[in-house]
Amino acid sequence: MAIVGVLALQGSFTEHIAALRRLGVKGVEIRKPEQLHNVTSLIIPGGESTTMAKLAEYHNLFPALRDFVKTGRPVWGTCAGLIFLAEKAIGQKTGGQQLVGGLDCTVHRNFFGSQIQSFEAEVLAPELASKEGGPETFRGVFIRAPAILEVGPEVQVLADYPVPTNSLLSLDSSIEGQKVNVEEQSKVIVAVRQGNILGTAFHPELTADNRWHSYFLKMASEIGGEEASSSIVPVEV
Ligand code: GLN
Repeated sequence: MAIVGVLALQGSFTEHIAALRRLGVKGVEIRKPEQLHNVTSLIIPGGESTTMAKLAEYHNLFPALRDFVKTGRPVWGTCAGLIFLAEKAIGQKTGGQQLVGGLDCTVHRNFFGSQIQSFEAEVLAPELASKEGGPETFRGVFIRAPAILEVGPEVQVLADYPVPTNSLLSLDSSIEGQKVNVEEQSKVIVAVRQGNILGTAFHPELTADNRWHSYFLKMASEIGGEEASSSIVPVEV
């Protein structure tokens, strides 16, 4: 049986576990490196990535998380989780923030603005419709959301979104010396897949639409996360 780990340091981990439960899948909270041996795949939830990074450092989780990603086990990062998985993060207060990496992209933290500029919108994701059935769009919940500004050649773009005119991009495009041609960028990327890694800038776990969780579970079973669980060592979680 698939057992999905959900990093439970901070943020919307209980909501992810509830979404998995609705699909009949067990999600377990991960707070210690050794607990990662017990799971076939991993979700890194949304929350606040600098706080989450500090907690992950405190619990010595970064080496185990990096190893989990590198060894090809399925991982999904939502919002702050996406920032964790990015190879590079820019934007406000990213200096010194540790990342897990693995996803060949540059994310911009808080791209759409502060908490009060959080929003919901219909977003197009053709792949979601073809794999999961139903409509081509989903309700994207963007809470102080990041956006992906650049992706490497191995990265498949699953959804993008028009750059709002009030986005922070125009304000801090030169931050940390990152050259991003903001004027010419009318859309930003909000969902990607690179092999075993799924990244979404929004929060599917806060909606009743289970299609992104189904997509991840299907992706995980195709990759063979089941096999990765054969070496399970029972650890209390
Ligand atoms: N802006 C947050 C950060 O940088 C992420 C927001 C979220 O996960 N909803 O960590």
